[in-house]
Amino acid sequence: MTGLATDSAAGAPVVIAGGGIAGLTMALTCHQIGVSAVVLESVRSLAPLGVGINLQPNAVRELFDLGLGDELASIGVETSEWALVARGGRDVWAEPRGRAAGYRWPQYSVHRGQLQMLLHRAVVERLGPDAVRSGHRVVGYRNDRDAVVVRVDTRDGGVTEVTGSLLLAADGLHSAVRNQMHPDQPPPQWGGQILWRGATPGPPVRTGSSFTLIGTLDQRFVHYPISSPDPNTGLQLQNWIAELTVDTGAGLAGSDWNKQVDTNTFLPAFDDWTFEWLDIRSLVEGAPAVWEFPMVDRDPVDRWVDGRVCLLGDAAHVMYPVGSNGASQAIVDARVIGAKFVEHGVGVDALRAYESDLLEPMSALVLRNRGHGPIGILGLVDERSDGFFDDIDDVIERDEIERYMSSYKAAAGFAMETLNSSPSTIAAAARVGRGYDQVV
Ligand SMILES: Cc1cc2nc3c(=O)[nH]c(=O)nc-3n(C[C@H](O)[C@H](O)[C@H](O)COP(=O)(O)OP(=O)(O)OC[C@H]3O[C@@H](n4cnc5c(N)ncnc54)[C@H](O)[C@@H]3O)c2cc1C
Repeated sequence: MTGLATDSAAGAPVVIAGGGIAGLTMALTCHQIGVSAVVLESVRSLAPLGVGINLQPNAVRELFDLGLGDELASIGVETSEWALVARGGRDVWAEPRGRAAGYRWPQYSVHRGQLQMLLHRAVVERLGPDAVRSGHRVVGYRNDRDAVVVRVDTRDGGVTEVTGSLLLAADGLHSAVRNQMHPDQPPPQWGGQILWRGATPGPPVRTGSSFTLIGTLDQRFVHYPISSPDPNTGLQLQNWIAELTVDTGAGLAGSDWNKQVDTNTFLPAFDDWTFEWLDIRSLVEGAPAVWEFPMVDRDPVDRWVDGRVCLLGDAAHVMYPVGSNGASQAIVDARVIGAKFVEHGVGVDALRAYESDLLEPMSALVLRNRGHGPIGILGLVDERSDGFFDDIDDVIERDEIERYMSSYKAAAGFAMETLNSSPSTIAAAARVGRGYDQVV
């Protein structure tokens, strides 16, 4: 073991594993309520990786409460429509979203990497330049009576230990902390679907701020803009995802968000998907890079808390991205933990209260998304019509779709009336009392 260093336990900060969407939101939340925190991030230097993600109004509200509303508006496109389109190109369902639907907060489509950089900038400004320690990969933890000792591999080949009052693990899909907490958990679960993702400048489609899902359960094309139109060209950065279900016989070959592939891997399957309003081939071929990701999740676990250690974000409940709520829920998790700190102090009681509120509904949502989430409607339409019809009312009743959609939004925590009428998760003036970082 080289370079062993141990932080002092006195006044130990909350240690956050992972500087992704959940971890950085957690750090900003700690700062808001007066709790010291440090983020340990495995990559040597954060880069704006990924392509588009959606932030639902419940998560946007939390970012507004963190004072990030203006910056968010500058990187995001306010989504105004969500549409399901059958394989034949006709609408199955289109509904307004965000403020267009009556929410008090917008829904945004953003570039994941730009969101991560925005959060990172805010953390550095508010908590100071040492608040995010990059090149620090968390590899394990040890619960002591008064503190938690976090074991870290550093990029220079060293090993160090960091002592915290708590360890909040936001280290994503392959969470090392979750692996230690649940050593017998099965590997990521894969049902045979593969996503290919990219972003390409292209002309506005539909409203110019629509999220469009075309196809069937086994083959889909998802599309939404993640930038405003360029004033010179009129083009927007169009995020797209091509999805295919393949034979699982060969097994899962890794699940890395950064694997780049050639478009020939999947584009021929979309050769006859031609629509007057969307040119799939030119969008795909125009992308500077295409990333492959198998659609994986993890079986829910029976606890997220082990002593002074707790999971959040994808580390707690990674789910299929069929309802656009992985990043949103990561943000909400951090805010709920912050609210529990205010209520119970920074200690194990707060972690248990968070777990008690969210473990059950999020585990149900993971399984629900495995069962296709809101995309299930496209499955019904495909079964009844092969995706080609003149009038959608001959295929499925609007009431049936409405029931399906409302029940999904309620399960995912963004039912409009509930959200609009609920108080802030953390009141603006809320602070954790003095002495919080003593043993609670
Ligand atoms: C590089 C990357 C690209 C992505 N691209 C997309 C995309 O295009 N579309 C999409 O829908 N979702 C994408 N995601 C996933 C999406 O960000 C998450 O599903 C969601 O935002 C939940 O966020 P999270 O903070 O829980 O997890 P993540 O956003 O995955 O963040 C986890 C963070 O923890 C760090 N980390 C991992 N292991 C350790 C460790 N042992 N010690 C310390 N730090 C660790 C990671 O480097 C990362 O910064 C991507 C994730 C990553 C990491």
